[in-house]
Amino acid sequence: MSDAILARRNRLMGPNVPTFYRDPVHIVRGQGVWLWDAAGNRYLDCYNNVAHVGHCHPRVVEAIARQSMTLNTHTRYLHEGVLDYLEQLTARLGHGISQGIMVCTGSEANDIALRMAQAVTGKTGIIATDNTYHGNTVATAALSTRRPPIGGYPPHVRLVPAPESLAPLGGSAERQADVFAENVAHAIADLEDSGFGFSGIMLCPFFANEGFPDLPADFLAPTARIVRAAGGLMLVDEVQPGFGRLGSHFWGHDRAGLVPDVVTVGKPMANGHPVAAVLARPDVMGAFRSAFGYFNTFGGNPVAAAAALATLQVMEEEGLQANARDTGAYALARLRALRHPAIAQARGAGLFLGLECVTDDGGPATAFATELVERMRQRGILMNRIGRHMNTLKIRPPMPFSRDNADLLVDTLGEVLAAMPTETADAG
Ligand code: PMP
Repeated sequence: MSDAILARRNRLMGPNVPTFYRDPVHIVRGQGVWLWDAAGNRYLDCYNNVAHVGHCHPRVVEAIARQSMTLNTHTRYLHEGVLDYLEQLTARLGHGISQGIMVCTGSEANDIALRMAQAVTGKTGIIATDNTYHGNTVATAALSTRRPPIGGYPPHVRLVPAPESLAPLGGSAERQADVFAENVAHAIADLEDSGFGFSGIMLCPFFANEGFPDLPADFLAPTARIVRAAGGLMLVDEVQPGFGRLGSHFWGHDRAGLVPDVVTVGKPMANGHPVAAVLARPDVMGAFRSAFGYFNTFGGNPVAAAAALATLQVMEEEGLQANARDTGAYALARLRALRHPAIAQARGAGLFLGLECVTDDGGPATAFATELVERMRQRGILMNRIGRHMNTLKIRPPMPFSRDNADLLVDTLGEVLAAMPTETADAG
């Protein structure tokens, strides 16, 4: 069955369409933190941040269905749904951020954020890290480093070395924040010298795609000072850490003590319905609207707004941020107690956790991590890998994840680790 579907995908979608796992899972149903494949096997979803409040949450499903039966249309008519949602969402944000543009994907949101920085500064130079992903439009792909653009990165882009957990910039955890900021300062000077000027920096405050290194709470403070002093905008990509995932805070930037000029959100926002947004202060929004105008056919349409509003309400009613904090702390403590020579570090925050795998000589154990993920999938637990060498296990389940779920995850991980052939750790 899987082979037949893969063949059809190739025939109809072309080659290299990404799938997870050597034996891709053919999911047919989801509920809460659980997924079922076509053969009726059940999987614990430890990866999916899109089904934020749980797969097929009845409140979100009902909101979508009800609104779909009443009206769905493009966004040039007056409709209160999107306004109700933006009111509720911006109420969650500080820093004078009170306006938003609704779009359909995080990529679009980041694309707009880049243009906001251009509109405010009149400059185009932009900085991101050298191990990240901010989207799949031409502009955001130029800040996404897994697959460099044909012809190389555009000349207005500077990619600074991303922070690392086990191999910190500058050789020590204490130096890392300053070294990161110094590299940003050099990039700014270089952009100014080359005539592009400095419009801003785009960062995930949790460095999710960088492998979410273990960093001190004020890691970004020196960088923020340099960016401000240079007149650039802080474009904060909250696509992954936002919406309470990190447990202690609703936003990754608040956890990082960072003052954003622009915030972008997406993935978990409407529990799977394609909804994303870019949020900004009125002065930034005004500059953008004057410079570029903007229209998005589907962004924030009545059904999208209903789905997003229901997701936010469920988060609140079910206390899911608090659950991320409590269950996440419990799961992290249990992950930290796992003992295996290839596990160098358990880290993360809330329900965004990981284990970094190393070889005997301390190098990245990519093959080991890959094998671990595959064996977990065979045991009915879905997770994946991230980081520069893809050697960090990424655990990022739907937010209703329970202690029982965490126990099943860690117990199974312990058993799978115990059965891992040690030579795999050397093949990374
Ligand atoms: N920013 C970050 C940090 C992401 O991880 C992603 C998607 N993985 C995006 C932006 C792009 O979002 P989308 O796929 O909705 O365009």
